[in-house]
Amino acid sequence: MRLGALEAGGTKMVCAIGDEIGKIYEQVSIPTETPEITMPKLIAYFREREVEALGIGCFGPIELDRASSKYGYITSTPKLAWKNYNIVGAFSDALKCPIGFDTDVNSSVLGEVTFGQAKGKNCVIYLTIGTGVGGGIYIEGKLLHGMLHPETGHVLIQKRESDSYAGKCPYHKNCLEGLAAGPAIEERWGSKAALLADRPEVWELEADYIAQALTGYILTLSPEMIILGGGVMHQEQLFPLIRNKVTEMLGGYIQAEELNNMEHYIVPASLNDDQGIMGCLELAARAHNMP
Ligand code: ADP
Ligand code: ZN
Repeated sequence: MRLGALEAGGTKMVCAIGDEIGKIYEQVSIPTETPEITMPKLIAYFREREVEALGIGCFGPIELDRASSKYGYITSTPKLAWKNYNIVGAFSDALKCPIGFDTDVNSSVLGEVTFGQAKGKNCVIYLTIGTGVGGGIYIEGKLLHGMLHPETGHVLIQKRESDSYAGKCPYHKNCLEGLAAGPAIEERWGSKAALLADRPEVWELEADYIAQALTGYILTLSPEMIILGGGVMHQEQLFPLIRNKVTEMLGGYIQAEELNNMEHYIVPASLNDDQGIMGCLELAARAHNMP
């Protein structure tokens, strides 16, 4: 099958052509401007390449409820030009092919579960820690939507008393995104995050906040694997710190084989940063095979 994949992000749109076994034939990146400027370019790309189905992993919030008249819309995003934009409708009208649609982070977890290290697992969380924090959840063979879709980046975190940083989220004083996403690190410490590599106190605090969130997810969802991606996780020293803190925070309460093997439980993404786009291929394949 000739499948289209679109990772729709706030700064760039990654478009690819591939197939149902996750092979990517070509890939381009187009800057995200307004729908009027950007959509015709995206449509032309996929139309010229005659895709049989398209999978879209999209920044949110988005409407995923097929029973809603707003299904396929980007809803209340701060990226104002895209607010209330019917992205699925626009592609469907133009390309006249099946369209798969989910959050960007759900497409990443789907990529890992279908083609990557999480193959065969039933409950997996993918968390990206970058400009924002977002999480995709694959549970009992499905991508979790619930009433909207999970917003794991906004879980509340107990702030350390010595941390005088106010937090960056306009909705919550002390959520994970507001305290631990890239922009929060940079504001708190006054430097690009990538340049703070040799400041252990930065990553010790960061690992504490991330571990608090992961501990909550583990207790709530009982995941078999947690995959951490995004720009901030390029700081590889975070992984052992996070694993140790999660073990400490769980306090020995949960007895599971996975937790005795933390380096295979809390892990970096496995698909060379293609987990999102490969997940979009799987979304396209699933849309194509839908009755
Ligand atoms: P996005 O979230 O916009 O898709 P990224 O996942 O690349 O993009 O995240 C960008 C954020 O990650 C920036 O805020 C930056 O602070 C942080 N970042 C990028 N590279 C590094 C690095 N090497 N070390 C620590 N933080 C980084
Ligand atoms: Zn928040």
